[in-house]
Amino acid sequence: MKLYPLFADLSHRAVLVIGGGAVAERKALALLAVGAQVTVGAPELTPELARLARRGRIAHRAAAFAPDWLDHAWLVIAATADRALNARVADLAALRRLFVNVVDDAALSSFQVPAVVDRSPLVIAISSGGSAPMLARLVRERLESLLDHSLGALATLATQWRKRIRRRYPDLAVRRHFYEWLFRGPVAQLVRSGRFEQVQAAVAQALQGATPAYAGLVVLVGAGPGDPGLLTLRALRALNEADVILHDHLVTPEVLDLARRDAERIEVGKRAGGRSVSQDDIHALLLRHARAGRRVVRLKGGDPFVFGRGGEELQFLRAHGIPYEVVPGVTAALACAAHAGVPLTHRDHAQSVRFVTAHCRDSLDTLDWRALAQERQTLAVYMGVSGLPALRAHLLAGGRRPDTPFALIENGARADQRVVVGTLDNLPERAVAHAVHSPALLILGTVAGLATELAWFGAAPLAESATVPPARRLQTGHELAHCPA
Ligand code: SAH
Repeated sequence: MKLYPLFADLSHRAVLVIGGGAVAERKALALLAVGAQVTVGAPELTPELARLARRGRIAHRAAAFAPDWLDHAWLVIAATADRALNARVADLAALRRLFVNVVDDAALSSFQVPAVVDRSPLVIAISSGGSAPMLARLVRERLESLLDHSLGALATLATQWRKRIRRRYPDLAVRRHFYEWLFRGPVAQLVRSGRFEQVQAAVAQALQGATPAYAGLVVLVGAGPGDPGLLTLRALRALNEADVILHDHLVTPEVLDLARRDAERIEVGKRAGGRSVSQDDIHALLLRHARAGRRVVRLKGGDPFVFGRGGEELQFLRAHGIPYEVVPGVTAALACAAHAGVPLTHRDHAQSVRFVTAHCRDSLDTLDWRALAQERQTLAVYMGVSGLPALRAHLLAGGRRPDTPFALIENGARADQRVVVGTLDNLPERAVAHAVHSPALLILGTVAGLATELAWFGAAPLAESATVPPARRLQTGHELAHCPA
């Protein structure tokens, strides 16, 4: 059996829902949302349906089903648990040439209700012909994650301007080109950025001049700590639409795998020790690709605005008139804390948290150590592995207690995560003993004392009593070479 897809206008049309339980409630609400006149027939109603009936939003026939209920309906939904009753409703509806849906019973139904992705007025309906509703649901989930919510606003915009666009571009091929520009170019970007006041002007202007060319765009995207599950939906969408991806070495292959297959991938990471691309070269690459009209994704580990030089890159783009967007990511401090079972704040331990970088001499000297050494706060220290001896000295001198717990998290939120715990007085030695290497993040504060109790992810924390492997030299000395923050 093959179904004919159909979108029905039910506004002000009578629709009958038979049944007063949770399923009937869901159906009634969906019908109300498209303006249908809903009658619910059932001896008893859920509290929500009863409330809607009291308010006059739905009509209620408080009785057992009678065939004359079908008299004025355009459409019928049978949502009772009584299969014989459902079958009777289906038969009677067929006699009256009424379309009927029996919930979860494709054989009795003459129409089916699809799984829906709603970006009204744009609506995507998915059907498996009743054979595999679960599959339709899976497809729906996929599309939900891929399609930006701004699509709805874009569709509304197209409706508002349709006549004028048609008049301006009577030729279909040219018009199609214009719509492509409208939906993919700077106007779509203005809509996504919530710049609604500029949107109308931009369309009006475009209709006056020649069809504008595609403008390139840079999307600065936070890739999170490495596990693709910690990407935002927006990041995923940006990766799906990218023409070019400039990524750091912190970005994992698993995340890059999610990008559009034919997107060009360029690693510009400043890998400690390895060959690195200078910040000027990165700027030049961004500019070249954006000016060529491409969608460039600048993908950075964690969040682009936390020790990621995202600000500098945007200032550069702005100076050169290249449009940009920013998608935040889960920064290392949040990801590591979550995956090490260390709450960054806790009523008993810490009322504030500070993100600090302390990996090169400049940053060590400019920090206010007295403030950083204060009790009842948590420090999340980025890029700190090679600077641990200096960090300890400064914090102790600033007055922080030597028995303050720490958790040092290597490869946080990844399958090979390791957590080393201890106290401030033995911090560098513990790091060396376990050969902790980059990327690693330090959480210091009494909250870190919870790491052992609350651990849930990966290997158990390496506590003091654990057998310590023979010390290896830290291989992170070259991190001192540059100081991005
Ligand atoms: N923008 C990034 C930080 C870049 S600086 C963010 O928001 O997370 C690089 C430092 O981040 C590393 O030296 C390390 O301290 C930390 N880091 C990044 N990813 C990490 C991970 N998966 N585990 C532990 N630390 C990490």
